[in-house]
Amino acid sequence: MATLGAVPDCCSPARFTLTGIPGQYSSSARVEFNEMKNFGKPSAFRQLRLASSDNQAAAATTNLARRTLLTGTNRRGLIDSDISKGKETVRIPVYNTFNIQRIPEDFTYIRESVLKTEGAKALAEAGRLAMAHGNLPLCSIAHHGGSGPYNNERQLLCTIGEGVLECAEECQGRACKGTRVVSQGITLPLQIFHTGTQRGWGVRCAQGIAPGTFIACYAGEGITDSEAEKLTTSDAYLYDLSHFLEVRRDPAEHEAPNDINLSRTPPVPTDCLKVYLDNYSYFLHGAQPQNRGASSPMRSPQKAGGHEGRGSAEGESHLTLDARRAGNVARFVNHCCEPNCQMQSVLVAGDSALWHHTALFAITNIGPNQELTYDYGYTLGAGSNELECRCGAPRCKGRLL
Ligand SMILES: [Zn+2]
Ligand SMILES: [Zn+2]
Repeated sequence: MATLGAVPDCCSPARFTLTGIPGQYSSSARVEFNEMKNFGKPSAFRQLRLASSDNQAAAATTNLARRTLLTGTNRRGLIDSDISKGKETVRIPVYNTFNIQRIPEDFTYIRESVLKTEGAKALAEAGRLAMAHGNLPLCSIAHHGGSGPYNNERQLLCTIGEGVLECAEECQGRACKGTRVVSQGITLPLQIFHTGTQRGWGVRCAQGIAPGTFIACYAGEGITDSEAEKLTTSDAYLYDLSHFLEVRRDPAEHEAPNDINLSRTPPVPTDCLKVYLDNYSYFLHGAQPQNRGASSPMRSPQKAGGHEGRGSAEGESHLTLDARRAGNVARFVNHCCEPNCQMQSVLVAGDSALWHHTALFAITNIGPNQELTYDYGYTLGAGSNELECRCGAPRCKGRLL
């Protein structure tokens, strides 16, 4: 958080203010993958199917069912059939059955993050140069120890502290296509809905979700961290892109696959990202990189596109996504102390350790219309004010800050 100083845990560096309470978790979260195929229709459609099966007055029932569907839709509080206005490949409707609240009019839906300020653009360029000179294997399969980060169902095998790398379009290996998951954007029928509580808006999916499934990236306007510090508005929708810097500062903490294994065969992360991160420091601060034996010789700062002498202040060292005015569906996902999703840093074509994707993945089976949540990763006591947590989870920590 802009006002919180160091981000406590680089694996969950989200910086939000609590805005809602997660929905009720159902015990159906134990359903196995194959059974998940049976999930997936919004309740209104189930009502329609049931109504259609009435063999006593089929035609009349069908008409009734149509009306039921329409009025049912209204009852379900559909207030926007697609908040993305066609920017996503799937529609993202907005529902509110509790009050007249609407999505703020000054909010603009964007599919991908954008660099907002000149300072942010310069910082992203430094990251791009470091990436270009990092001599990293750009094939995900090679990077992730020959197995790739996803299984055949395009599910993340496990969360990876050092980040997931996806193959670029040019990467034509047999298994490469299967690594382009985050690159392809949202495919699930996500919905924004009012939770009817102090937590305000939340996000759910009309169908069941298996663990490891990609849900959405966090999108916002890219600004520098020092610019984020100066914001006078709420920092409720800020998200630090400092993950890889935290990895560099404390690599031991991130060498092993992180937290929750989603399969029995996690990929083996390589250490080449560390080499790249050393490069980054060199391009940004002029610090001597540590050659760990896998990279090409470093270029001098003078060849780094005119960025010599750029800010050595740590405060300028990373970018922050601000989704208050412009963002995507992930902006509306609430915190929970026992979440069903987790953020994962992901590098797709054109990304760098400074300007990368941060993607929400399911970490457990999630039933249809269950609220999607993740742990914002705040450290208790890190802020000047306490912030009560209202997530409602049985093992809620009670406080966000
Ligand atoms: Zn590849
Ligand atoms: Zn909680």
